[in-house]
Amino acid sequence: MALNNEHAKGSLDIAIVGGGLVGSVEALYLAKRGHNVRIYEYREDIRKTPQVRGRSINLALSVRGRRALKDVGLEQHIIEEHGIPMKGRRIHRLDGSTYVIPYDARNNQCIYSVGRNYLNASLLKESDNYENVTKYFNHKLIEANLQKGTLTFLKTDTKENVDVKADLIIGADGAFSAVRKSMMKQPLFDYTQKYIEHGYLELCIPADEQGSFQMPANYLHIWPRGNFMMIALPNQDCSWTVTLFMPFTSFKSIDTEDKLLAFFEKYFPDSIALIGRKKLIEDFFGGSPSPLVFVKCRPYHVEDKALLIGDAAHAVVPFYGQGMNAGFEDCTILDHLFQKYNDDLAKILLEFSDTRWIDTFEICDLALYNYIEMRDLVTRPSYRIRKALDDLIYWLLPDIWVPLYNSVTFTTMPYSECAKNRQWQNKVLKYIFTVLGVSTLVGVFYAFK
Ligand SMILES: Cc1cc2nc3c(=O)[nH]c(=O)nc-3n(C[C@H](O)[C@H](O)[C@H](O)COP(=O)(O)OP(=O)(O)OC[C@H]3O[C@@H](n4cnc5c(N)ncnc54)[C@H](O)[C@@H]3O)c2cc1C
Repeated sequence: MALNNEHAKGSLDIAIVGGGLVGSVEALYLAKRGHNVRIYEYREDIRKTPQVRGRSINLALSVRGRRALKDVGLEQHIIEEHGIPMKGRRIHRLDGSTYVIPYDARNNQCIYSVGRNYLNASLLKESDNYENVTKYFNHKLIEANLQKGTLTFLKTDTKENVDVKADLIIGADGAFSAVRKSMMKQPLFDYTQKYIEHGYLELCIPADEQGSFQMPANYLHIWPRGNFMMIALPNQDCSWTVTLFMPFTSFKSIDTEDKLLAFFEKYFPDSIALIGRKKLIEDFFGGSPSPLVFVKCRPYHVEDKALLIGDAAHAVVPFYGQGMNAGFEDCTILDHLFQKYNDDLAKILLEFSDTRWIDTFEICDLALYNYIEMRDLVTRPSYRIRKALDDLIYWLLPDIWVPLYNSVTFTTMPYSECAKNRQWQNKVLKYIFTVLGVSTLVGVFYAFK
């Protein structure tokens, strides 16, 4: 057994469990501050492995995530050389016709479709430039004593156990975090986990014969169908990652090729030619739907020894496109706290833990709400009237009236404030409509008196 705890004087020795998206960004922030960082990742180096099925292939990157990428020096590369801008939702009606709902008609801001593996690999590659970052792949955390700052990993290739010690342990090991499991032994640790009744399955619209996109590229395409929906995000190779979200019971009921084709002909007729019948059948029956889980827990820390970030702290359903963005924002906030408290871990961890949950609980709830908006409300006239009103008032009063989607996606306003804004905006609109309604009634009354 090796005990690995060497570190330079003055810098902290930090072990990050999980070299996924959030763990890799956090490693870069800490390395920039001069700390010694060790990343322990269960999987092998993602740069050496082909894309694995079962996890979203691409993700929507927005302002909070961009902010972190900017801080670690990668924003420009990801946006300009890899990301595909999506300037609005392109809604597919049942008859195959489409219309666009722009994300930001006022400032033309957009979100970016980025490849998960590419982004993760770029972050790991960037960390190669820091001598104070060491990466250990094929290391699965199997035991932790967070108060003592010790971790035991199983080396999945050699089956050896490795014990390590660190000044700070950061759990960035995703929604089913082993670090969090260890934290759950702490008294007063609150924890909620819930699977929603809907799952998701990824399909693919390939590039056409000329190697071009088969649909207009700069949109997030949505086929909203009430209780379920399909979406598509563009990829660099001009294909589309298509994700079907629906209740598990519906997935289960589609158990033959004929039923699958009949289902698609009824609900997504325009997509069949784009995906191709053979590929649709292969991809649908070649995989199984994945579950969607959300996790709320607190506190996020143990004394000055351990901290949870990213999905390990707050997994959310994917419908606001904020899971990764919120995780990256954790890293930005932590960086400010390291600066504010001059590396005093007790103060940093306490403040992060005491404040961050308010916003992560909020985005968890907002993400659940957004599923209903995406699969159902977008098709309703009431939604489109509200959106038009929001856009108009935002146009007139940009500093006062920022619509909910814009504040979540295009600002770094705390999520809880975004939700509060929406509440007072609802009240103002309700008041205006009540006054207008009453005035109209009074007018009609006197006109016919
Ligand atoms: C279908 C879908 C679509 C999504 N779309 C978006 C989107 O558009 N925009 C967005 O912002 N977010 C999106 N998300 C959410 C996003 O994927 C997550 O929020 C993000 O991946 C969280 O990053 P993370 O690094 O915290 O966790 P993960 O990405 O889960 O990484 C955790 C890492 O820890 C490692 N690990 C796990 N256990 C151990 C262990 N015991 N020992 C060592 N290592 C371990 C794993 O191998 C992994 O590499 C989506 C999620 C899903 C499911």
